[in-house]
Amino acid sequence: MEVVFSDRAYTAILAETTEKIKTETGGLFLGTVIDETYYVIEAIDPGINSIFQVYYFEYDQKYTEHLINKIANLYQFKLELIGLWHRHPGSLDTFSGTDDKTNTKYAAMREQGAISALVNIDPEFRLTMYHVSSPCEYQKIHYEVGDNLIPEVLLKYKSPLRYKRIMEKMLSEE
Ligand SMILES: [Zn+2]
Repeated sequence: MEVVFSDRAYTAILAETTEKIKTETGGLFLGTVIDETYYVIEAIDPGINSIFQVYYFEYDQKYTEHLINKIANLYQFKLELIGLWHRHPGSLDTFSGTDDKTNTKYAAMREQGAISALVNIDPEFRLTMYHVSSPCEYQKIHYEVGDNLIPEVLLKYKSPLRYKRIMEKMLSEE
């Protein structure tokens, strides 16, 4: 089992961590699972109404749900919510009791479970990746970064022709 980040998704994690350097923050992973490899194509930011504190962080659910649908709709392949990440203070790279509850919720959404990453700055950026199986068992897994490691079909946007067909279908169903 391993995780592959697209260049864009990994950059989004770095950007979000940098913007909120003084507090916790996090985000959600949009992608898919093929043969035990988790492909993270997009990392969705946590939203303007998230709660950012030094030892606490909560997603803006309305915003993330909205953005997940918007971003997923750009891609040819059906991307799904496959996991999440958040920053921890200092070098703490294990989950809290609250994290267990959140991870359990995400793991229950898919048969394969979910992935959950922790980011630490101690003092350099460090990401620890876990697989969460239902109900809440953790396994540390390896990750890599690079569009060149991702099947091309997962990175493709829908074409104008594809939208034309979707529009026609929707209009004919009215
Ligand atoms: Zn946490």
